[in-house]
Amino acid sequence: MTKILVIADIKDGVLKGSTKELLSKAKAIGAETAVAAIGSNIESLSADLANAGSDTQYIADDADLELFTAGPFASCVVDAAKLFEADLIWFGFSETGKAVAPRVAAKIDAACASDITDIEIDGGQITITRPAIANKVMQKIKINTKQLVAVVRAGAFEADPGISGSENVVKLSAPEPDLKAVIKEVVSDASGEIDLGDADIVISVGRGTKDQAGIDLVKGLADDLGAGFGSSRAMVDAGLLAQNKQVGQTGKIVAPNLYMAMGISGAIQHLAGMTGSKTILAVNKDPEAPIFNVADYGIVGDLFEVVPILREEIKKIKG
Ligand SMILES: Cc1cc2nc3c(=O)[nH]c(=O)nc-3n(C[C@H](O)[C@H](O)[C@H](O)COP(=O)(O)OP(=O)(O)OC[C@H]3O[C@@H](n4cnc5c(N)ncnc54)[C@H](O)[C@@H]3O)c2cc1C
Repeated sequence: MTKILVIADIKDGVLKGSTKELLSKAKAIGAETAVAAIGSNIESLSADLANAGSDTQYIADDADLELFTAGPFASCVVDAAKLFEADLIWFGFSETGKAVAPRVAAKIDAACASDITDIEIDGGQITITRPAIANKVMQKIKINTKQLVAVVRAGAFEADPGISGSENVVKLSAPEPDLKAVIKEVVSDASGEIDLGDADIVISVGRGTKDQAGIDLVKGLADDLGAGFGSSRAMVDAGLLAQNKQVGQTGKIVAPNLYMAMGISGAIQHLAGMTGSKTILAVNKDPEAPIFNVADYGIVGDLFEVVPILREEIKKIKG
């Protein structure tokens, strides 16, 4: 039976939904599942990890693992992979996953693929699918090693609420500290903001919002809905929003339940970051804007008129 090790995505002591998505796919394939959880003060998550669909939980819980450093994290994953004899090792789509996956692959001499959107296993042959050239084509790649380390694109797999696993905790010993790179402190400029990767709804602004007043108008709508707030590159290049807000090929890739594009034309590089969203709503005054080719719902109109109406209607529904 194929063995799939999923690396748990934990943020501020909370298990993120992407872990269940990966475990759901692993179970759907018919694989034996395990999860590796790495951090500090995380042992209490073992029941959550089992409920997410893992049958074994490899847990490395150590104060030295509180701040993420790729080397020690990779060592923990390698330990778990060896103990479990994993065929596939899956990371969710995060900076952590992208930093650790190649290190793990190099240590165990496995293939490594990032950005995958699907995976098939047929008689031991692993085949992955992933987008290339800014989503213009989908590649299918046959993997010729026994083991594969993969970073799965956000929203690629659906969480199955019907699955669960069983609690069977294996404690991993803390790895040697990484003397080459030690993280001293993490400084976040997004205090209290909803992470774009976690948000159920993401609202992004483009050049059509013009200036700070336009941004504030749309931000009000995002606050009403508890949505993450993103941007096209045009607004970042104009110095109106920080780079960590940018959605797209050279920004973040998001896959929320609802993505709202406000005054965004729909350039291919922007689409590369958001077409995985379940539902897309676009507001643009140009009926020919390419964003409407990918939108499920389109409003042709001036966002400065449309957004206040949307806010009013949302208030009524909430009230
Ligand atoms: C290598 C490379 C990487 C890139 N990476 C990214 C990336 O990661 N993310 C990204 O977003 N871009 C990226 N870009 C830039 C991309 O090509 C576009 O230039 C950019 O996405 C355009 O942003 P925009 O849609 O906000 O602006 P525009 O293309 O100028 O579109 C503005 C839209 O607003 C509409 N509008 C104007 N006024 C109103 C109004 N009052 N109400 C409603 N609608 C209105 C207009 O009709 C228009 O469609 C990249 C480009 C390159 C070359």
